[in-house]
Amino acid sequence: MKYENPYHRKVKGSYTMLVLCGRCKNEIVLYQKVGRGRLLRMYVDRIIRSSVDLSGKPGALHCPNCNELLATRMALKRKHTEAYVMVRGAYNTRWV
Ligand SMILES: [Zn+2]
Repeated sequence: MKYENPYHRKVKGSYTMLVLCGRCKNEIVLYQKVGRGRLLRMYVDRIIRSSVDLSGKPGALHCPNCNELLATRMALKRKHTEAYVMVRGAYNTRWV
């Protein structure tokens, strides 16, 4: 993962989660997750590092290795302004 996320902000009491491509197991995102539940969406400001360049705010996240569609971007009205909604079955996660 070569890109530091320029929009990242630290969150207290969070856990670090690794998100991998479900197809080729490429490491996609290092994520600061609040709570131990499943990952359904990734808030942009909680992404620490990524193998996709987020500086241009891409509308979707594809695996840079196999091009699998992993998530699509959406705007949220409350709290966080932007998030990537994960595509079901397209990714794996692991606590680190
Ligand atoms: Zn892949």
